[in-house]
Amino acid sequence: MVYGLTGGTGSGKTTVADYLREFGCEVVDADIIAREVTAKGSPVLDVLAETFGADILDENGELIRKKLGSIVFGNKEKLAKLNELMREALDTRFRKALDEAGSKRLYSKVFFDAPALFETNREHFVDRVWVVAADLETRIARIMKRDGLSREQVLERMASQLPEEEKIRKADVVIYNDGTLEDLRNKVAEALNK
Ligand code: ATP
Repeated sequence: MVYGLTGGTGSGKTTVADYLREFGCEVVDADIIAREVTAKGSPVLDVLAETFGADILDENGELIRKKLGSIVFGNKEKLAKLNELMREALDTRFRKALDEAGSKRLYSKVFFDAPALFETNREHFVDRVWVVAADLETRIARIMKRDGLSREQVLERMASQLPEEEKIRKADVVIYNDGTLEDLRNKVAEALNK
């Protein structure tokens, strides 16, 4: 049994993932795997540089994620292209990591922390979905503060994501992160015990 963990930017997924680890769950982080797949010198990074331009790389040949983000966020076709170019390499790594997590931790829950689980049609990787949700203004304020972005930049990022209400509709469990961090931690513990 694999549980998906998803939600819009600023909802608090990463914070929930930290609590899940603290409670002994195994969490496979899709973003970390995406970083590994696009590491310096990787075949995928070469293809990305050919497609989106060599200026997505810094002078050491490392991916400038912000630069790539500024190209694809706000442009549906380019975002779809990016997802298509990364799909095969990512799926192979996701499957391997989830299998390893499952065999390593036979008696604990395995979560797949995948911010774009729905947007990239990867629901088939999981058996149940947890969605972390929060009021829109709260989410905007959290990301402006965390990433030093303007309101417009946050809204642009959100525009490439499925609206929160649709995520909630598809969820098996919804964690409303609208209180303190302590409230959130309690909600995670409660949801795990159910
Ligand atoms: P993204 O998808 O953009 O990475 P996320 O859903 O993973 O976002 P987090 O990184 O967990 O979101 O949270 C965003 C910011 O808000 C972080 O700085 C986090 O510490 C803070 N935060 C999350 N939940 C709360 C809360 N209940 N109270 C106060 N701050 C919070």
